[in-house]
Amino acid sequence: MPRAKSNATLSPTLHSLIGQPYPSDLPDSAADRQRLLDELNAQVRPCLLCRELASGRKQTVFGVGNSKPRVVFFGEAPGADEDRQGEPFVGRAGQLLTKIIEACGWQRSDVYIMNVLKCRPPDNRNPLPPEVDNCRPFFERQLEILRPEYIVCVGSVPSQALLETTESVGKLRGRIHRYRGSRVLVTYHPSYLLRNPAAKKYVWEDMQLLLKEMGLPVPKR
Ligand code: URA
Repeated sequence: MPRAKSNATLSPTLHSLIGQPYPSDLPDSAADRQRLLDELNAQVRPCLLCRELASGRKQTVFGVGNSKPRVVFFGEAPGADEDRQGEPFVGRAGQLLTKIIEACGWQRSDVYIMNVLKCRPPDNRNPLPPEVDNCRPFFERQLEILRPEYIVCVGSVPSQALLETTESVGKLRGRIHRYRGSRVLVTYHPSYLLRNPAAKKYVWEDMQLLLKEMGLPVPKR
């Protein structure tokens, strides 16, 4: 079925899913969702679409956590630690993301954690637009299987890729966006917080907004 193009920033070859509801006929149990995620991961693993990334990676990094989550944390791309361990957000930035998750009263295993790109860009450079385009069917299907109530985009790469915009994190944060059936929040990337600790207060504001939206108490800090 043709999909409507939603805004001018989208590449002409892509069709937007933003306004399309998640399909209602997908399996609902955590076990069935995990099976679908495993099947998708089996398609990701041999992917050679981005030749530079495929030749430089130790392994693909798919995603980890609860297969029936209320919240998905959506990052940019694996770094060196993630490439080595095969799990997103396990390096220094990952440890900070874990602290952010725990400050909300959760464990990493309560949420699902994934990235736009499944392969590590060389020297941790930003993903290139064609690389995001190549990975788009993978992350869109991953989100369709997970169908989370909330998606927290950390940093500009996942925010711009998901919301199909060129707006900065500073402009996008502080309000609720929509992607299919999910409510989307934008906040700063933990790597940015490592360089700019003063921005941590904004991330905490964003997490408080998330908790309030979810009807959950804000833990004392
Ligand atoms: N930064 C990301 O965006 N994702 C990771 O998995 C690690 C660091």
